[in-house]
Amino acid sequence: MVSRVIPVEPFDLVIFGGTGDLARRKVLPSLYRRFWTGQMPASSRVIGVSRKSITDDMFREFAHSAIRDFALQGRDDEARIETFLRQLRYVSIDATGEAGWDELRSSLRPDVVRAFYFSVGPDVFIPLSEHLNRHGIAGRDCRIVIEKPFGHDLESARDLNRTLAQFFEERQIYRIDHYLGKETVQNLMAVRFGNILFEPLWNAQFVDHIQITVAETVGVGGRGAYYDRAGAMRDMVQNHLMQLLCLTAMEPPSRFDPDAVRDEKLKVIRALDPVLPADLVRGQYACSEEIQSYLSDVGNGNSLSESFIAMKLQVSNWRWKGTPFYLRTGKRLNARASEIAVVFKDPPHSIFGDETGRRGNVLVIRLQPNEGMNMWVTIKEPGPGGMRLIEVPLDMSFAKAFGDDGVHVADAYERLIMDMIRGNQTLFMRGDEVEAAWGWTDPIIENWTIRGDRPHSYSPGSSGPDEAMSLLHREGRQWREIAE
Ligand code: NAP
Repeated sequence: MVSRVIPVEPFDLVIFGGTGDLARRKVLPSLYRRFWTGQMPASSRVIGVSRKSITDDMFREFAHSAIRDFALQGRDDEARIETFLRQLRYVSIDATGEAGWDELRSSLRPDVVRAFYFSVGPDVFIPLSEHLNRHGIAGRDCRIVIEKPFGHDLESARDLNRTLAQFFEERQIYRIDHYLGKETVQNLMAVRFGNILFEPLWNAQFVDHIQITVAETVGVGGRGAYYDRAGAMRDMVQNHLMQLLCLTAMEPPSRFDPDAVRDEKLKVIRALDPVLPADLVRGQYACSEEIQSYLSDVGNGNSLSESFIAMKLQVSNWRWKGTPFYLRTGKRLNARASEIAVVFKDPPHSIFGDETGRRGNVLVIRLQPNEGMNMWVTIKEPGPGGMRLIEVPLDMSFAKAFGDDGVHVADAYERLIMDMIRGNQTLFMRGDEVEAAWGWTDPIIENWTIRGDRPHSYSPGSSGPDEAMSLLHREGRQWREIAE
């Protein structure tokens, strides 16, 4: 299968934080991959900015090593890498200071798309916006990309939205949630709204429940201080899991355009019932022989933050009343696996009797690893010996379907950066969506903070605390196994 590559318009992309971890692991490798496919025009420029005093060549060497580490996989033609690197420049600026802005302005061209990637800490967003504006660098047509975390709670997210609105219009602001750039997440919309097959069944009458899992095997790594302030609720649920929930539960938008899609997602957040304490389980990983505990990882023996959370949600609208959504995410679990599983109800009557096997249809949308979809269907077990039923997956792995012809499954950042250059905000979060998500999250966090709840302990390499299992067991259901 051949994937078409449509080049974007030439652009100048300024990466503030161009020497940081995100630029190294994601932004620069993604740009190189898009250059390799022919989507990034050779007349585009990428300008790295940070406080470090380095030359263009030193920045190119930094980018070269990022490409070697994160983007090669068959794209190791040194001449092409060199051509890409010649499109890179570097300007040293402290985004909170006054120096360097004239040099940046003079290195930008008037007649190409102009974009600024805010790959710096959130404390720099506001002074950076002010300076871009005051120094006449950000015009009415420029775009800015804002990384998560977008605020720490509703109040801070509102403040940030208000301040950004002083300098930029909403149509210029691209709030990134990289989960939305994943091929499978967009396929969720394609499958739902591009086929007649699923949508008639996509409701409480036919869907028993939905499970959304984002499981990681890693701990908090070097992000201990940040993570301990956030916990899994702020770090994962408020943004990534909420977005997955919205795309799964939303009504069909009238068109696949940014505001139509985002309006429908917003309605889902607004339809969420408050979560009862009994429907929520928080956990913290303990230590094992090889792995130290969450408390040691974050260097705070008294921490009450969660590295795992599982909850039952109810979307109170006509489509979903009575169908629970179960969400869980955690660190140091037994496998790295993210998926949405739509578990359909059993047929109303079995003509085969009760002893012939299970009959549940499950549509599994796998985000990682091996992006793809599985539809579990019931068939007859092959061979003689009567009518015994088994479940088998109709498997559609994107890597298999599209990868063998040399078409790689694009990284989320590749798609999102190109969408931003095209001016398409469909896969980016709107300000009111982010605020609504915080508005739903805040009372839940306040509630457990007031009660001083201590998260349940779980073993590294497990599937979370036992209490999370009970969340479903008590209702006669069970979590799907977390498996790669
Ligand atoms: P990082 O590794 O600490 O890099 C920060 C970058 O910003 C460096 O290039 C730093 O260079 C530059 N910088 C800091 N203060 C600056 C200032 N006043 N003026 C100009 N440049 C400045 O951080 P990161 O991991 O790349 O994260 C960047 C942003 O992305 C953060 O908001 C983070 O929350 C978000 N994010 C990161 C990831 C990830 O995987 N890393 C994932 C999601 C979101 P100098 O010190 O030389 O100035």
